[in-house]
Amino acid sequence: MTVPDRQFCSEQMARLSGLPGYPKTEEAKREFIDTLQGAFSFVGGGDVLRQWVTDVLHEVEFCPSQADAWRAGHRLRPAKQQPHCRQCDGTGWRPVIKYGVECVERCVCQPRAAVMAARLPYRDSEAE
Ligand SMILES: [Zn+2]
Repeated sequence: MTVPDRQFCSEQMARLSGLPGYPKTEEAKREFIDTLQGAFSFVGGGDVLRQWVTDVLHEVEFCPSQADAWRAGHRLRPAKQQPHCRQCDGTGWRPVIKYGVECVERCVCQPRAAVMAARLPYRDSEAE
């Protein structure tokens, strides 16, 4: 399991900055990076993330939402690396609807203290 480097995720996110809907606040950007790190936490995930951003830039006119990023990472993850948590598929994030808007939140399988300490989505041992 490989968590993509935060700086790398930040650079990939920045490639989307010309698109409408790009996160405006520092907090929103941090959350988006958290989502990218979680969603693309698998071997080769950094390359997959880079390719996904390239595809988005070619195919989509709006900046993807966190939920879009989460789904992309899940969809593009190699099958043999699919972990076990059904709520978040081991990404540490799960899609939720808040105020009618689709977004993501930290999964119940994530020990919050450890997540916050590391500023990284944490993988539980069960997901191994
Ligand atoms: Zn989970």
